[in-house]
Amino acid sequence: MSAFLKLPALLRDASAALLFPTHCRVCGEPVAHLQDGVACRQCWQTTEGERLNFDYCEKCDVSLPRLQQQAQARRCGVCDDLAFTSARACGNHFGALRESVLRLKLEPTISEYLRQSLISTFWQLPNAREIELIIPIPLHFSRQQERQFNQAEIIARALAQATDLPMSVSALVRSKATERHRAGMDSKARQQSLQGAFQVRAPRLIADRTIVVVDDVMTTGSTAHEIAQTLREHQARAVSVLTLTRAVTSWSFS
Ligand SMILES: [Zn+2]
Ligand SMILES: [Zn+2]
Repeated sequence: MSAFLKLPALLRDASAALLFPTHCRVCGEPVAHLQDGVACRQCWQTTEGERLNFDYCEKCDVSLPRLQQQAQARRCGVCDDLAFTSARACGNHFGALRESVLRLKLEPTISEYLRQSLISTFWQLPNAREIELIIPIPLHFSRQQERQFNQAEIIARALAQATDLPMSVSALVRSKATERHRAGMDSKARQQSLQGAFQVRAPRLIADRTIVVVDDVMTTGSTAHEIAQTLREHQARAVSVLTLTRAVTSWSFS
């Protein structure tokens, strides 16, 4: 694109930056491009670069210590019994991604930069081409009332628009208001607190479908597991998981 054609976008960004000066939530420098959301371009690049420091479990996408030699597909050894087929996140819960997740809990929008990252991450799911339905991980209705929106639904909607796949916000509900997960809760305690937390309301939508469930953050994968199990009980063919961030490393599993 020529510099001339870029000019209106530059002017729009520059005047928006003058009218609504935003500072990067990571480093405090001004954000020059509206589409970058809460972080400056430099911090997005640092966040993306951080991902290159690790290897990843091919099923659950948890970061693994990097091996010297290029390894074949690796598994973490912890996720074998989890009921989902595979999970992918845009990156670890760090830097610009972490700040974007925090902002999304307050404001129901995602930046263009994050949207692009989400879409390219979706296509990294091994079964992306088979997926037929998008389901945002539901909030319990009391929590949704408190927040007034479900951040997972904002992400799922962006994905549905980009892929032309249908999304359902009513096929699955959260029928149990589970305690907020505390940092110290190990994955067994999380799994127990989640048992029976989700219910399928539209079994015909679920049966025989390949589904992706969407959320902002995946930690141990207990929530995704519980949902995948619930959907599989209703004959879902396969359930994958897509999140903005992954908030745990394999060596922090307990
Ligand atoms: Zn920055
Ligand atoms: Zn794994």
